[in-house]
Amino acid sequence: MKTRLYIWVTSDCNLACPYCSQQNTMKENKGYQMSIDEAYRIVKSCQQRNLHFDTIELTGGEASLWKHIREGVVMFGRIADNVTLATNGNNPDLVKSLGMKTWIVSASQATKEQMAKYEPIKRRLTINKHRHKKMPNSPVINSLPALCATSRDPLTGEPQTCFQYLRGKVYHCCDAAAHCYRLGLSHEEYSCDFEEDFIKRFYHKTYNKEICQYCLANQKVWNQL
Ligand code: SF4
Ligand code: SF4
Repeated sequence: MKTRLYIWVTSDCNLACPYCSQQNTMKENKGYQMSIDEAYRIVKSCQQRNLHFDTIELTGGEASLWKHIREGVVMFGRIADNVTLATNGNNPDLVKSLGMKTWIVSASQATKEQMAKYEPIKRRLTINKHRHKKMPNSPVINSLPALCATSRDPLTGEPQTCFQYLRGKVYHCCDAAAHCYRLGLSHEEYSCDFEEDFIKRFYHKTYNKEICQYCLANQKVWNQL
């Protein structure tokens, strides 16, 4: 199974989408920009533990607004086959200049002019065209086990398991921190320190977690909203 590590690099964003899944995380971590020292510590620790990922996906916030994006892409490339980026598409020139093999662009947040700039490299893009939906405030019935969109690589469809790094902690999946902040759940249940064996703890997912019943990545939730 492929491994994908999401790394949350900044709380900054130039937009304020009403249904942003990360808005509580951004509020709680306001002004956060991962320092180059923190990025270096992540890489060094992974190298010492022989941890290597199929994909590292930079996220936030708007990852293209991370001040160290250029150095970061190169550094994280030492511990992953592929470094990619999730972006709202508003910064096409910068994103294209990073030399990544692939990107994930949210077309619903970019203008037509901005999307046109991705046209020459569209084969290397995954474009999210779906509109935003409001996250449910109560658990959606009959939604477990989750049909989780993150259980497959968005480009190749291969099975994958994912984790998210956020400020010294690693979370169960890319949405767990956001759910903890939004629903007021204990982070301890869904995260561990980065230095712990997070692979062992979060590699095998049952998709039966309480948070999966609120999660828009769960197709069974998405289809009922
Ligand atoms: S662009 Fe993305 S991170 Fe920024 S507010 Fe919109 S959904 Fe949230
Ligand atoms: S909360 Fe559950 S459904 Fe959502 S991304 Fe995580 S594992 Fe998948």
